[in-house]
Amino acid sequence: MATIEWQSPMNAMAVRQFDIAAEKLSLDANVAARLRRPDRALIVSVPTRMDDRSVHVFTGYRVQHNDVLGPFKGGIRYHSEVNLGEVSALAMWMTWKCSLVGLPLGGGKGGISCDPAELSRTELQSMTRRYTAEILNFIGPEVDVPAPDMGTNEQIMAWMMDTYSQHKGHAVPEVVTGKPVAIGGTLGRREATGRGVVYTIVEAAAHLGIDLGKCTAAVQGFGNVGSVVVKELANAGVRVIGVSDRTGGFYDRSGLPVDRLLEVADKNHSLEGCPYGEKVSNAELLELKCDILVPAALELQITEENAGRLQCRILAEGANGPTSLEADKIIQEKEIFLIPDILANAGGVVVSYFEWVQDLQNFFWTEEEVNKKLRDILVKAFHEVLSMSAQQKIDMRLAALMIGINRVARAMLWRGLYA
Ligand code: NAD
Repeated sequence: MATIEWQSPMNAMAVRQFDIAAEKLSLDANVAARLRRPDRALIVSVPTRMDDRSVHVFTGYRVQHNDVLGPFKGGIRYHSEVNLGEVSALAMWMTWKCSLVGLPLGGGKGGISCDPAELSRTELQSMTRRYTAEILNFIGPEVDVPAPDMGTNEQIMAWMMDTYSQHKGHAVPEVVTGKPVAIGGTLGRREATGRGVVYTIVEAAAHLGIDLGKCTAAVQGFGNVGSVVVKELANAGVRVIGVSDRTGGFYDRSGLPVDRLLEVADKNHSLEGCPYGEKVSNAELLELKCDILVPAALELQITEENAGRLQCRILAEGANGPTSLEADKIIQEKEIFLIPDILANAGGVVVSYFEWVQDLQNFFWTEEEVNKKLRDILVKAFHEVLSMSAQQKIDMRLAALMIGINRVARAMLWRGLYA
């Protein structure tokens, strides 16, 4: 089918995953045909005044996959590789993720094709405000609620919230999540995704009878997700032997000094020049002998080319879509325990949901409440997926997708086809 969103390998992968789960579920064919495609996909031009006074026109996207369970929800990504196919795949995964963990939300995703590291603060702010203005009629607290993703952070969310609020004439904090606490953000949101990844690793280790205190871990990506995973794993007694970011990786079999790595990354915004351990490439990091491997950077990092060389026992997907379909088969054959992305990294959207709820009620919770509710939701979802995987003798990814897709499909059948 020659539509734009079908042209990206990532969207083809997301649709193929859906088809496999739909077949296994014997999903209603009419529902399946609808769910293979997004509800709506926007492409916007984002003219931005650069510091040299020239105007650069960036391309922005917002894809709304499905809102049968509630408003669209999903991050905004700033990265040079952002394209409609990638954003469509990420929006579809958000639909299954929200459904899997029982949130009354649908799936959306957005982004701008740009390199945020190359933009000044003024350029970043101008681009963000114009992008928000371009998608303004398609977002809103009851419609579509953006959040941070790769390359965006609480400052970007604050500018989005302010732009939307200026147009409405009053503060509307509930239009985005992942905002600073000072303007209606929630405690615990920044750490939520990484913390959630570690909650699911703790459950996996207990299920497999592994003592985390004797485990080693390697983590790819040292941003919002990866750095918190590293910190929380260290807190759980795991020896972190490898870390990396876009500048490369570091390895020390006896354990890296996690607190010092966090200080370096905080100060330099990257791990570059880090004086600890030996240097390794990102490709080598994935193949280190370790108990727990967490890809927490880009998609399609584990493919049929390198999957056979993985040496971990647990693969917890902090990133979205880090593993190709072909690699999934190899991972299953190697009996690596997989915690799939829509489960492992769902902590971010769960606490985004908490933030939205708190904003709507103007009533804020303590960080302990946020973390406890987050843990309860993820532990429940983990065991639902584990049971489905055991009952149907299928891998954890297929089990997670089947639970998520089935709930959306049931809701669609109840609501019926409008007009
Ligand atoms: P981020 O921008 O905060 O950090 C990204 C990290 O990846 C950085 O350390 C960067 O240097 C590194 N990186 C970039 N290119 C790389 C490469 N080629 N090789 C190795 N490392 C590279 O982004 P984030 O928010 O931590 O997101 C990371 C992943 O987690 C993405 O797949 C994102 O979709 C997913 N995710 C994020 C959230 C969230 O709440 N932020 C929620 C769910 C899933």
